[in-house]
Amino acid sequence: MSVIRTVTGPLAAADVTGPVLAHEHLVADLRRDTDGEAALLPGAHAAPVTAELAALREEFGLALVVELTCRGMGRDVATLTRISRESDVAVVAATGWYYEAFHPAEVTAARDAEELAAVLVREIENGIDGTAVSPGVLGEVGTHGDVIGAAEEKTLRASARAAVRTGLSLATHCHLGHGGLAQLAVLAEEGLPAHRVSLGHQDLLDDPGVHRRLAQAGAYIAFDTVGKENYQSDATRLRLLLSLLEAGHADRVLLSCDISRHGYLTAEGGQGYGHLFRSFLPQLRAAGADDDLIDLMTRRNPVRFLTGTRTEETR
Ligand SMILES: [Zn+2]
Repeated sequence: MSVIRTVTGPLAAADVTGPVLAHEHLVADLRRDTDGEAALLPGAHAAPVTAELAALREEFGLALVVELTCRGMGRDVATLTRISRESDVAVVAATGWYYEAFHPAEVTAARDAEELAAVLVREIENGIDGTAVSPGVLGEVGTHGDVIGAAEEKTLRASARAAVRTGLSLATHCHLGHGGLAQLAVLAEEGLPAHRVSLGHQDLLDDPGVHRRLAQAGAYIAFDTVGKENYQSDATRLRLLLSLLEAGHADRVLLSCDISRHGYLTAEGGQGYGHLFRSFLPQLRAAGADDDLIDLMTRRNPVRFLTGTRTEETR
């Protein structure tokens, strides 16, 4: 039986009976000099985050959140565990490194990818920050631009090796949607099969040809910034998604909202984690998607991605 590693223990794939948010942040600290609001802090924001998830559990049956906050992003698995327990929504924690602007000193200090891979494997085997909580996915492993620089190549290769050695899947951050093909090439060189890879933020890249190439290679295409209208309109997202569906790649699509700052929470007037269910999926239904297609993209695909199941076997 396929098992997903959550912050509260193993979860059988067959027990994921509701939708999954495939790329979110529940606790994160991405504040830099220029952006003091880019955070979801354990003290100030855990309560409204928990309340949102509990409400989505109640209203839409939200079953699982893939939480892609990794090293250098303010990850806090003790708080993730509390949010998961109190909201009754399963949470998968992550490990890896985000794009270069957020690399902690350990990345520069490491001699090579091998040394960094060992750091990740240790966390996966022994737990994060002295807790018994182990990551259930690599991510969000970041690069920026169409060409990958040396530091990001090092973290990408390290994450791929850790994925291969531990049997976890790997989710990336393609900055503003760029670099997916280059990432996939590096990951393939490290022996990570495409069906274990989710390429992030593809909804920010208005290039259906690239989406098709990535899907044809067998990778998951993450439309994971749904509702972030200042980056891309949902109207464009919908057009790009329909194009991918028309090309026959519904089994490669992952959906999420990538909530990454407290201003996005509904308590602060933002779109919230529920924007996918309340706004985008209804638009997708209006464009012709039926319940089975929605279930495929919001539940069976992310479960298959996390467990590394190559083709559909559970419905
Ligand atoms: Zn993210």
